[in-house]
Amino acid sequence: MENVIIIGTGPAGYTAAIYAARAELKPVILTGDQPGGQLTTTSEVENFPGFPDGIMGPELMNKMQAQAERFGTRVEFGIMVTNVEKNDDGTFAVHTKPVFADAVTVMQTKTVIVASGATARYLGIEGEEQYIGGRGLTACAVCDGAFFKGVPVAVIGGGDSACEEADFLTKYASKVYLVHRRDELRASKIMAKRVMEHPKIEMVWNSQLAGYKEAENGNINAIVLDNTVDGSTSDLPVEGVFMAIGHTPNTSFLSTDLMDLDPSGYAIPVPGKTATKTPGIFVAGDVADTVYRQGITAAGLGCAAALEAEKFLSGH
Ligand code: NAP
Repeated sequence: MENVIIIGTGPAGYTAAIYAARAELKPVILTGDQPGGQLTTTSEVENFPGFPDGIMGPELMNKMQAQAERFGTRVEFGIMVTNVEKNDDGTFAVHTKPVFADAVTVMQTKTVIVASGATARYLGIEGEEQYIGGRGLTACAVCDGAFFKGVPVAVIGGGDSACEEADFLTKYASKVYLVHRRDELRASKIMAKRVMEHPKIEMVWNSQLAGYKEAENGNINAIVLDNTVDGSTSDLPVEGVFMAIGHTPNTSFLSTDLMDLDPSGYAIPVPGKTATKTPGIFVAGDVADTVYRQGITAAGLGCAAALEAEKFLSGH
């Protein structure tokens, strides 16, 4: 019987682990199929406090892992959670399986911290992965916008995220193309007005991203667009592509008997807490965050979840 099982190894999970380990709870953390989480897919992180010269995303996550292990966290690599069940005595059975095998193992625990994150959606175009993380394709303007100073970029999507990213990128890029598959934005009126009136943003309506073109160094230097109305195809020269077609929260292993989920699948904690409707289950980070989605906010919530879990355990 474990004290606390932490699901997910992004900033929320590792911060929860550091706090739980220092409280001598001997936490176990399960990495899933992406050890280190979303920050491992970005290049340099310039906005995480404490690193005035920036730090590479994977290196930051390695440091968090080392810090968690230093205090006695057990890291289980390549372990996916397939289900969480509540036992009759209020403890939990966490069903797990290795990423590359089918053998199911059931772990018992007194508390669970769900920090399984969200996955930015990409289009799934063939060869797309090779451009993610430093070759021009990203899903986070706040993280990577500063690498595109003085060059044209494209944002893909028509929602609030796309508008927010486009607006943010005008600080750096020479020009921002907002590429949307329809001729009307889904975003709120105020966001839509802001981008459409911005002198550095050009709307590219009725266009679906269909492919990437690369320079000799392998970085993106243009995108291929299919016109969704007349079927024509054209190239748009850009050096950065910011995908803003939504995120998918990683909650498929959670039953709504234990965790409230919003219509998009995001976990809903008790207001102002990381506790959930099930005593003993806590939630932290992007899996419950549709607003901030930053490493540092996730880390802060991971800390809160561990403190709440510790208090819960000492009260039981
Ligand atoms: P979203 O509202 O779901 O918008 C996703 C956009 O991507 C839509 O315009 C959609 O096009 C497009 N899209 C989806 N799949 C696509 C595909 N396969 N190919 C091309 N385009 C595709 O997602 P979001 O913008 O991330 O926002 C999520 C939630 O967070 C929303 O409730 C939003 O209001 C909220 N949010 C709020 C703020 C804020 O208030 N400051 C900021 C960010 C997000 P269609 O329109 O054609 O479906």
